Amino acid sequence: MTESVTNWAGNITYAAKELHRPRTTDALRALVADSARVRVLGSGHSFNDIADAGEDGVLLSLAALPPVIEVDAESRTVRVGGGVRYAELAREVHRHGLALANMASLPHISVAGSVATGTHGSGVGNGPLSSSVRAVELVTADGSTLTLERGDERFGGAVTALGALGVVTALTLDLEPAYEVEQRVFTELPLDVLDAGTFDAVMSAAYSVSLFTDWREPGFRQVWVKHRTDRPRTGFPWAAPATQKMHPVPGMPGVNCTEQFGAPGPWHERLPHFRAEFTPSSGAELQSEYLLPRETAVDALRALDAVRETIAPVLQTCEVRTVAAEEQWLGPAYGRDTVALHFTWIEDTATVLPVVRRVEEALAPFAPRPHWGKVFATPPAELRSRYPRLHDFRALVRELDPEGVFGNAFVRSVLGG
Ligand SMILES: Cc1cc2nc3c(=O)[nH]c(=O)nc-3n(C[C@H](O)[C@H](O)[C@H](O)COP(=O)(O)OP(=O)(O)OC[C@H]3O[C@@H](n4cnc5c(N)ncnc54)[C@H](O)[C@@H]3O)c2cc1C
Repeated sequence: MTESVTNWAGNITYAAKELHRPRTTDALRALVADSARVRVLGSGHSFNDIADAGEDGVLLSLAALPPVIEVDAESRTVRVGGGVRYAELAREVHRHGLALANMASLPHISVAGSVATGTHGSGVGNGPLSSSVRAVELVTADGSTLTLERGDERFGGAVTALGALGVVTALTLDLEPAYEVEQRVFTELPLDVLDAGTFDAVMSAAYSVSLFTDWREPGFRQVWVKHRTDRPRTGFPWAAPATQKMHPVPGMPGVNCTEQFGAPGPWHERLPHFRAEFTPSSGAELQSEYLLPRETAVDALRALDAVRETIAPVLQTCEVRTVAAEEQWLGPAYGRDTVALHFTWIEDTATVLPVVRRVEEALAPFAPRPHWGKVFATPPAELRSRYPRLHDFRALVRELDPEGVFGNAFVRSVLGG
């Protein structure tokens, strides 16, 4: 590549020699049909080489395609192009008086890239973002088009597909009537307050709840509580309300974060932690995340507490969220109500990796599934053993892409032999 292309965090420089930005779907189909190896680069917010095409492959960005956002108010759905990001989608959907069920912490990530890696927000009743998808439109390896819809027996592999089935040119998502959310932040929730029952009560206290800790103490510095005003209200007796605007990373200014003092506002201005108007073009951080059965949450937190002196020196913040069980075969919350343990590390890979391994050892008894878009060191065989439908996904890849045009080192290691 004449230009050197990196991910958002700058820890990955893609090895692919070419980056194409086709302006039409026909040009995109021709590029795919003419290429031996292709990968799509979304908004580049993953922290590993999942998007790379390797030295002998080409990268495709869909950012120059017309940004399709077609809202169908009657069926309460939206058809969204493969390069569109959540921030622009959310604004348009809201303009029609409609809403998405949930959002991730950052609205700047692409929709197709997010659902490809199993991206999620929080909420005991909320599945990952992929659970809103009802249809996926693909350009497959020979340049032809294919739509897979909810109800199709192959749909379980179609959404959280790691980019391995083809180019996602559009997705159709479920919508619901627009709603308002009040966000409040509470401070200092000690770990020993939590047993299995209290953990569930805390995480169920509102539509979306996140706990944050820097693991310098055995407890949580902040609890972010996002309450839907159209749902019954519950109190939050376990911690005291914050008196100033907070950032998930202690000491950072809260100015780029969404409103926190309980003023009701549109869903898309409260569900993410970070404001859409604030566009971080790069980030001095790495991230890892592990998704485990929700019923093991308190034991897993205690296992992390036991190694917090190893974790704390390289940690910016750790976020605990919940995700409802999902049906995507490679979804990290597949078949189990889930607790997601997220780590924002300092940006130094060499220092962080040994700690990632230590965290994986501590969490191993709980069969954690790493977030596909973040840093992890889990051996491929172990990963595979945690996905009971992996063989179905492998068969789908073989059917749609027998030559492995959309394969890369990451996908090959996940699929195995
Ligand atoms: C600051 C920050 C905050 C984050 N917050 C969250 C969070 O709250 N929750 C969470 O779960 N994750 C979170 N993430 C992780 C992020 O959501 C994932 O890494 C996600 O994949 C990013 O989407 P992307 O478009 O940038 O993907 P990329 O990194 O560009 O690509 C990811 C994968 O998607 C594939 N892909 C992308 N577009 C297409 C397409 N059109 N067709 C086929 N394949 C495609 C790529 O080939 C690749 O395999 C966060 C990341 C950052 C940097």
